[in-house]
Amino acid sequence: MSATAAAPAPVLCDLDGVVWLSGVPLPGAPEAIAALRAEGRRVLFVTNNSWATVDQQEATLAEAGIPASGDVITSAAAAATLVQPGERVLVCGGPGVVEALEQRGATPVGRDHAGGVDVVVVGFHRDFDYDEMAVAAGAVRAGARLVATNSDATYPTPHGPIPGGGAIVAGIAVAAGVDPVVAGKPHEPMAAAVAAAIGRDPGPMPDVIMVGDRVETDGFFAATLGAAFALVRTGVTPSGAALPPGITPAYDIADLASLVELLGR
Ligand SMILES: [Mg+2]
Repeated sequence: MSATAAAPAPVLCDLDGVVWLSGVPLPGAPEAIAALRAEGRRVLFVTNNSWATVDQQEATLAEAGIPASGDVITSAAAAATLVQPGERVLVCGGPGVVEALEQRGATPVGRDHAGGVDVVVVGFHRDFDYDEMAVAAGAVRAGARLVATNSDATYPTPHGPIPGGGAIVAGIAVAAGVDPVVAGKPHEPMAAAVAAAIGRDPGPMPDVIMVGDRVETDGFFAATLGAAFALVRTGVTPSGAALPPGITPAYDIADLASLVELLGR
């Protein structure tokens, strides 16, 4: 028997509404991350944001005082696992999707691509329009698979919710007459990507904690992983707000700092 205690379990952290709000760090969050790491925990940032590149998200974390090199998993990376190297992929999304596909060895193309494509990958982007919907739906009707980085209906901003990637893919899916395969939280491809990143086999991991502000994505993602869900009230679920049915958080806490306190007891 080894005298060395096992490392404490990893903590998975959503970004928006947990670590920051629109890139502005939430009070106490950088210190909380540092404290979790000081306990020997791996902290992995798991985000449905497929627009920004991993470099950009790591840079925003670094600006907030949170070094995170190699610790960010995006829904774009999860979507790329559904694509084979060498496949031609019509990107209806942002630079984060292009980056993930290139790392996968696939060939991302834009709406002006003349030939056929194998896959259409859809994520949040602001220059979506009717022509792009027509090209994407046409590609799917011609046989391409339809993959969505995430199905979030809205995306929170300081000025209120704006349409999210889920709203964009919904239009393409209706026009194409198929349902998309969704990669991001709370779906299986993201769970597989996270399990691989923390060196776990897929399957229940009740010692792992998923921290998030949205029950529909983070809470159900914890369930997909078989992990414990820690709901923080710093994002889309304000203090006192009732929870949708189906998920009971293991921890229902004010913020990330409260989790550190609870775990330290
Ligand atoms: Mg969030």
